[in-house]
Amino acid sequence: MNNLKWYFPKTIKEATDLITKEKVLPHAGGTALLLRNLEKINGLVNLSDLPLYYTKKEDNTIEFGSMNTYADIISKLKKIDTENILLKSLQNSADTPLRNRITIGGSIAFAPPWSDIIGALIVLDTKIILSGKNEGVFPIEEYLKNNKLKQDSLITGIRFNLSKWKTFSYRNIRTKKDMPAFHIVVMLQIENDIILESKIVITGTVNRYDWMKEIENYLKSREIDIIEFSKIEEMVDVKFSGKRFTDPEYSRKLAGIELSRGIKKLVRES
Ligand SMILES: Cc1cc2nc3c(=O)[nH]c(=O)nc-3n(C[C@H](O)[C@H](O)[C@H](O)COP(=O)(O)OP(=O)(O)OC[C@H]3O[C@@H](n4cnc5c(N)ncnc54)[C@H](O)[C@@H]3O)c2cc1C
Repeated sequence: MNNLKWYFPKTIKEATDLITKEKVLPHAGGTALLLRNLEKINGLVNLSDLPLYYTKKEDNTIEFGSMNTYADIISKLKKIDTENILLKSLQNSADTPLRNRITIGGSIAFAPPWSDIIGALIVLDTKIILSGKNEGVFPIEEYLKNNKLKQDSLITGIRFNLSKWKTFSYRNIRTKKDMPAFHIVVMLQIENDIILESKIVITGTVNRYDWMKEIENYLKSREIDIIEFSKIEEMVDVKFSGKRFTDPEYSRKLAGIELSRGIKKLVRES
């Protein structure tokens, strides 16, 4: 086994220089790294001394430093925007000790199929702030799809706009402790009993995530009284791998039922 070297940089520049070294990785919450075989890794760059625990709110835009944990985000958003889809998505994720440790930066870089954060960040049209080789601000979907963006680059923060949309999150678990097999997020803009816009994403599918564009088009400009919820159920045609928990067709059916129920709930509350 390699002699694993730990680094404790005090500045972002120091950290980004360190991660350009061969087989040297950032270490945030460490919850994914601790399950990984680190035999071939030369070093870990501990990010905990960096100024990445910040929150900035300017007008309608909010920015969080990447070392904020799930628990930090939950407590901060509770004070600012209780309807926020990120808050709803994270508040039942994992368990308390893990939520105190899992960071947003590590979760975006790792983006596992059971992620509770990725769907919310996608529907919020989140921008990822990078330092290092790929310095700049990138849409989350570009970051997830383009592996080159991850090379020698540190996520330092995320930025998104706050909105007045109604939100719904559903994580499919068997027991309270389970990681979700899939996670549904919905944002609806409703005015005078008409759905103006919707944003709907399911994560945990074979494509990692899928937008429900057909359903979004069906709902657009539709009066809430004439929504056919059984139709919505049938429009969910995502593919699940079936490697985790269950039969893929069972999961697809369940995703349809839960998505349709979620939209019905939001419409009734409006
Ligand atoms: C038992 C268990 C249950 C879990 N359940 C859930 C759940 O229900 N829902 C959920 O959403 N998550 C869950 N997680 C967390 C998830 O699986 C990952 O472990 C977590 O998202 C990683 O975040 P971290 O901060 O610990 O990252 P780390 O483990 O520190 O790092 C993960 C990866 O990201 C890289 N990295 C870290 N920070 C940065 C950065 N700032 N910039 C660039 N790269 C970076 C690292 O080099 C590493 O490759 C669970 C984890 C465990 C162990």
